[in-house]
Amino acid sequence: MLGFRKKVMPVQTYGSPVLKTLAAPVAAISTAIMDLAEQMIETMFAFDGIGLAAPQVGVSLRLITLGLPVADTEDISPGECMLLPMMPLAMVNPVIISFGSEKTICEEGCLSVPDIYAQVERPSRIIIQAEILHHGPVTVECGGLLARCLQHEIDHLNGKLFVERVEAETMTEVKPQLVKLFDFGQKNNFQRSKR
Ligand code: ZN
Repeated sequence: MLGFRKKVMPVQTYGSPVLKTLAAPVAAISTAIMDLAEQMIETMFAFDGIGLAAPQVGVSLRLITLGLPVADTEDISPGECMLLPMMPLAMVNPVIISFGSEKTICEEGCLSVPDIYAQVERPSRIIIQAEILHHGPVTVECGGLLARCLQHEIDHLNGKLFVERVEAETMTEVKPQLVKLFDFGQKNNFQRSKR
């Protein structure tokens, strides 16, 4: 159908209970899961995001989507080499099986925590194990923005937001904005929509 678009889903915002819930594993890759992944990709791009986790659209399942740009640096990890050309993609039941010892600090934001950005320290490298929808299982070492984004999205599956990982000092700065966002959420069912 001309002009047909999959429905862009509302995004759950800070304070929504589903964002604090441990998400359940995806039992089987059904048509419903494939449809959900497509809608999540549509939603992620509509909100100008580079990653989205199912709890952010109100579905407590271990499914994430990524839409990272292709890196133009030379020193990219095996995971970036493999996965960046597949973007956008959906990962089912992603697990981090190992964290590297080196850490990096980088500013993060989140579609569920709009207009709030803060520095977060995370391991620079991880080994991820997941089923890539329509591509099959992978176990691969990831670095760069991919490693950061994966850790942020997998945190969502464990009911954790990036603002819970900031240093105490940063939290003091961010807290008033979070209080405002929570109040805004209460008046809007903890959802934001694209019109
Ligand atoms: Zn997020």
